Amino acid sequence: MLPHNQKPRAFILNSDKPILASSYKDRESTSALSDISPRDKPWDKHRSNADIVAHHYKRGGMNRYAERVDLCSQLLDFRLVPDDKKDEVKLKLSGAKFCRVRHCPVCQWRRSLRWRAKAMKSLPKLVEDHPKLRYLFLTLTLKNCPITELRETLDKLNYGFRKLSRRKIFPGVGWLKSVEVTQGKDRTSAHPHLHVLLAVKTSYFSHGYISQDKWCELWKTCLGVNYQPILHIKAIKPKKSLNTILNEVIKYQVKESDLISDPAWFAELVTQMHKTRAVAVGGIFRDYFKELEEEPEDLIGKDDEDEDDQGHLYFGWRRSEKRYRQVNRE
Ligand SMILES: [Zn+2]
Repeated sequence: MLPHNQKPRAFILNSDKPILASSYKDRESTSALSDISPRDKPWDKHRSNADIVAHHYKRGGMNRYAERVDLCSQLLDFRLVPDDKKDEVKLKLSGAKFCRVRHCPVCQWRRSLRWRAKAMKSLPKLVEDHPKLRYLFLTLTLKNCPITELRETLDKLNYGFRKLSRRKIFPGVGWLKSVEVTQGKDRTSAHPHLHVLLAVKTSYFSHGYISQDKWCELWKTCLGVNYQPILHIKAIKPKKSLNTILNEVIKYQVKESDLISDPAWFAELVTQMHKTRAVAVGGIFRDYFKELEEEPEDLIGKDDEDEDDQGHLYFGWRRSEKRYRQVNRE
């Protein structure tokens, strides 16, 4: 590792090609972000999809949103920081202007990263305070609905869960719930469903255990429907890390591939989902994950600002190329 007070002449960022640290001053330099830092490759995909989403907003007559998404994260400012695991420096996002439009692919990606980071930070405390809890992962669905009826169907879904959680038999002492909507195969319907991480007492498995059939029956009753809605439940093994499950619960509300597929479906989705809640927490989880219910204040993450700063690199979005490339910044 380079001494902290010494600026690197050359460094390698997970790349075969050495890149001069001072090259950002060079107007001729046009290295792609994904080449310099392969772990930042997702930027190209998300920003590229944001171009399509901006277009969809425009087609749907939502020009103000279209403009905001269009201007989102056009310029990325990365700090160079030491990578403790390797004898190298790595890029860390330091500045970008985000549009914060709900269905902007870049912003929803950043939002989920921030939510996950916050959840991971609270997790050790939860495990320390309640070492004996066990966890279940629940997926609750109902029949697909026309996209034009999504809002009322989401209400029904959430109401069904509220009813379920108030049942005496309900074993959850804490829960974290998120809403996901996927596009139906016919491209005109929507498939809303809930992902729930449920904390239960260890005794659940010996007293008060609910079988899959019983869960299904309960869900049907709470939803108040005359068909059998699909429900999945799995117990998480005691030693299995909760991180993976948290990632399942805290993810996008709508997959990017669904956001970009059809402008008419998208425009209706925007109207139907306006101001609906993405994540909710209950029971003892309120003491640990409450902030997941709110929009993260910063989409960058300034947890360790005191890290050694070894200079900056800037990247601008090249729409025609679908890549971020290094730019000079005076
Ligand atoms: Zn955005």
